[in-house]
Amino acid sequence: MDLKAYIRNIPDFPQKGVIFRDITPLIKNPEAFKFAIDLIVEELRAYDFDLIVCPEARGFIVGAPIAYLLGKGFVPVRKPGKLPYQTVSDFYELEYGRAELHMHVDAVEPGQRVVIVDDVLATGGTALAIKKLVEKVGGVVVASAFLIELTYLNPRELFKDVPIIAPIKF
Ligand code: IMP
Repeated sequence: MDLKAYIRNIPDFPQKGVIFRDITPLIKNPEAFKFAIDLIVEELRAYDFDLIVCPEARGFIVGAPIAYLLGKGFVPVRKPGKLPYQTVSDFYELEYGRAELHMHVDAVEPGQRVVIVDDVLATGGTALAIKKLVEKVGGVVVASAFLIELTYLNPRELFKDVPIIAPIKF
């Protein structure tokens, strides 16, 4: 299946010069959504891990079905002010702007093995920030998975030393 055909490219969103890769056509198509999730699930079977860790909001859409299918726990990473319990946090640079992410301090136990999942890997800043959060509480990131990798932004220079699964590449 040509998954790229289900991605809508929107120039100059959310700001001039950025081509936004819109996954909504893919996730509204039942065959394409299933195909993409199943591809990632099959690749992740090679890894021994405990938890899927995902940033809001589109990351949840991709990460939750993967966690369910592989029988893993799900950990949400959220913007400030959303999580009710004590958190660890990190500031990071985005493709368009600066942001802060939080994770519950007890979400990952020391020594637990984690896979980071999101919709799009762009500069790698978000994935790196999540890796730092996981490591702050003693977890280990063993792999990462995304629907889309924007190779022209060279995310692997920033987000190093972690295997990356991404069925769609631009
Ligand atoms: P990065 O931190 O630069 O790798 O950007 C990744 C984060 O920004 C992810 O959480 C994505 O949801 C979001 N993002 C960046 N570019 C795009 C895009 O083109 N389409 C959808 N989301 C994007």
